[in-house]
Amino acid sequence: MSKLPTDQHITYQLQYRKCGKPTCGTCKNAAGHGPYWYAYWREGAKLRSGYIGKTQPAGVTPVAAARAEQRLATHRATKVQPVAVEAR
Ligand SMILES: [Zn+2]
Repeated sequence: MSKLPTDQHITYQLQYRKCGKPTCGTCKNAAGHGPYWYAYWREGAKLRSGYIGKTQPAGVTPVAAARAEQRLATHRATKVQPVAVEAR
């Protein structure tokens, strides 16, 4: 996992990821693997991202996490959309 900055505003997203294997049934029949948490932040003009994993980041409140999961479940049936969660 990338080192997350401590002096930047970080946005967390709960996302599914496709592994790219043509034989993978998880990606073929579902949204992909996950959901996993990702962190996004700006470094100058660049948008950086870091993989966190299954564990809910410390900056995300349980309420925000529950909301993200709920939205993700709703979108899973139609299309996969990243769900933004404000950390603070
Ligand atoms: Zn897969």
